[in-house]
Amino acid sequence: MRGAVEARLRQLEGLLRGRGLPLTMQRREILKAVVERNDHPTADQVFDAVKDRLPRLSRTTVYRVLDRLVTLGVIRRLHHPGAGTRFDGKIDRHHHLFCRSCGCVIDVASSAVEDVSLPPASRHGFHVEDFSVHFVGVCPDCRRKASS
Ligand SMILES: [Zn+2]
Ligand SMILES: [Zn+2]
Repeated sequence: MRGAVEARLRQLEGLLRGRGLPLTMQRREILKAVVERNDHPTADQVFDAVKDRLPRLSRTTVYRVLDRLVTLGVIRRLHHPGAGTRFDGKIDRHHHLFCRSCGCVIDVASSAVEDVSLPPASRHGFHVEDFSVHFVGVCPDCRRKASS
């Protein structure tokens, strides 16, 4: 994971430099906080993770930086019904298992899903660039709790 974090930081640095923007300490720490974990944190969780290292950082800034990182394509925003917006440090295509009980989000790769045939979107004048499938259910922890 460490190598992945470093690689992503370098990628971001390059992107920002291309736009004449510096990789500030804030951006660096916030990006690290998302990429380092794979539980798809919310903006508030990211804030909690970095606030000790960046004592002057406000919650609003964290939201703004996360938005910026999504726009730059170095992290992704996950949309799913229920819980608040979560962020994903993994940007290559993968899919998600959503627990409807505790709201956790687990990454999943599925070759069956990869073979899904896309709808004829071009008919709508729409060009599909990527897709993500989410499966809703109950995670192992919640199942254990329910059966005990
Ligand atoms: Zn659960
Ligand atoms: Zn994910």
